[in-house]
Amino acid sequence: MVEQKFHIIDDSGIKWWLEEYVSKSAAPYCAKHHLPLRYPANPSIHRYFFCPDCTDPKSVDKAALTQMIYAADKIRAKVIAKLEVINYNGELLPVAKTSTKNNEYGVTAQIMESKHGKQLVIYAGKKGVHNKAQIFVDTENGKLSFDHKDLKPTEIFAKIEATFIDGSKMSIGKNANEA
Ligand SMILES: [Zn+2]
Repeated sequence: MVEQKFHIIDDSGIKWWLEEYVSKSAAPYCAKHHLPLRYPANPSIHRYFFCPDCTDPKSVDKAALTQMIYAADKIRAKVIAKLEVINYNGELLPVAKTSTKNNEYGVTAQIMESKHGKQLVIYAGKKGVHNKAQIFVDTENGKLSFDHKDLKPTEIFAKIEATFIDGSKMSIGKNANEA
């Protein structure tokens, strides 16, 4: 879920509201009176907005309509900058994430998407140990594997087992068929 926020741009005295994350344009409000701003006569050319309670128009850098699109993009950029992206061969993007923690261990599971399909990545760590175990569940090809450069999953888990949609199973464990 994306948090909806006002965002004040520059010194124009305008706060911008993005009604929906997918909206192309943000709506301008007066930062002082919180009133929706009125458009200029020709918003595709004129570079200002009016507040009903302010005497002066609020100047902006771009034509009013362009500024509204720009403000929406700026708000989205703030949200996007905060997304955690884990670089895996430079092509995966996070699409969903969940974490759990206790005093000793922390586990994060994340679904990543690439041109090869979806993959579940599990990061597991031990308190005080910098390295984490990285376990990859390739649901499309029914494979379970881990990053050999990182902490071994068996240093965290006794056993990890994945059951795929076709009923096949694969596990990583001290006595299991190691991936
Ligand atoms: Zn105002």
